[in-house]
Formats: sequence, structure tokens, C-alpha cells
Amino acid sequence: MQIELSKRQEKILEIVKAGGPITGEQIAEKLQLTRATLRPDLAILTMAGLLDARPRVGYFYSGKTANQLLGEHIRNLFVKDYKSRPIIVKENSSVYDAICTLFLEDVGSLFVTKESSQLLGVVSRKDLLQVSMGNNDLSAMPVGVMMTRMPNIITVKEEDTLYYAASQMMRHQVDSLPVIRPAQDGEIDVEIVGRISKTTIVKAFVEIGQP
Ligand code: ADP
Repeated sequence: MQIELSKRQEKILEIVKAGGPITGEQIAEKLQLTRATLRPDLAILTMAGLLDARPRVGYFYSGKTANQLLGEHIRNLFVKDYKSRPIIVKENSSVYDAICTLFLEDVGSLFVTKESSQLLGVVSRKDLLQVSMGNNDLSAMPVGVMMTRMPNIITVKEEDTLYYAASQMMRHQVDSLPVIRPAQDGEIDVEIVGRISKTTIVKAFVEIGQP
């Protein structure tokens, strides 16, 4: 958690860094304040992970910088808690219908499945723009013929971290990832259970930074 510390909290941190472990009373004495006045500050510093508290020992500095703690916080967010609803078209849907879905659902890419929810491929807005520029009958052309297809699809699982999903999107230069439930033993289906997009990451970023 990234927090902006008050002057008093900065002072408490300095005292604990220099003289910890140290009790709440001792810190209060050094600051010429009461223990009760300090209680909320100590609670904030402990919750933020900057201080550790041990009963009958006192407070000591956790040794972590605010940036380290923020990094830890970010790496503790999981795909399952942020995934959104996947927008899906069937492999025999026309390019024309796929473009309509893109507008209606306000997304940048669509996942393509068989009749079941088995993942077959992805079509992005630029894929659709590209075929639209050619001399094609968009109502007659199925998305299945122009999608990027499995096994070349970059996917994530619900238990992956959001950080991993973001780094996969950067690494492979794609805007969204299907969240899949891997095939069980003996099954070939890779089922889509959600979607992570760059917007998901922006939303999480805004949530984390909220004052
Ligand atoms: P756009 O090209 O519309 O900006 P993307 O950057 O997401 O959107 O897509 C770039 C290319 O990568 C497209 O050809 C698309 O089919 C493909 N693509 C999109 N998402 C994935 C993915 N998760 N895995 C593999 N390929 C993808």
C-alpha cells in the first residue's frame, strides 16, 4: 500500500528506525505526546507494513521501503478478482456480425469459440479493419478464417497474478487475454471464463492509487 505519511508519522518512523524495538509509551515520551494521541498513527504505520508490532517487545522497523510494499501489494492482485466478462463470437459468425459485436459491446477484441465455450482464437479491431479494406463480402466471410488461432493465443488462468497478465500483454504486444480454465485430464477443451484487457489494468491502477 502506498501512503503519504504525515510529519508525525515520519518522525515516529525515524524514532523506531533509530531505537527499535521500542514501546508505544517510549515513542510517545520522545514526542512529548500521549500514547492515545499516537495510537492512530501507529495503527496506520503498522497496517501499511512499515512497522511491525510485537506484544511486550514493541514496534520495530520492517525494513521495507514504501516502494517495496507497493510492489508487494501489486503482485498480490489476482486475475480471478479482476477478470471481466469475455465477449465471444462463434467461428462461423460473419466478419460483419463480429464488427457489430465490437461496437455493441464496446470492446477492442473478441474471442472466437466453437459451439461450446472452447477457445479457438482471437480477432482484434485491426484484424477486422484489415479484412474490411480488401474487396471481401463481410457478411459471407466467417471470422474463423481470419482469426489468430490456438495454439498461438496468449492466455492466463484465474490464479495467475494481474501483474503476470499485464507483463504478458506488454511482452506479446496484445491488448487483451482470455482467462481460461485449463483442460482437465482427458479433455481437449480449453474453456474461456473471462477476459483481462489493458483497461482492466488501468482500472486496477486507479483503484490502487485512490487517496
Ligand atoms: P489491435 O491489433 O487491434 O490493436 P491487439 O494488439 O490486441 O489489437 O492485436 C494484435 C494482433 O494480435 C492481432 O492480429 C490479434 O489477432 C492478435 N492477438 C490479440 N490478442 C491476442 C492474444 N491474447 N494472443 C495471441 N494473439 C492475440
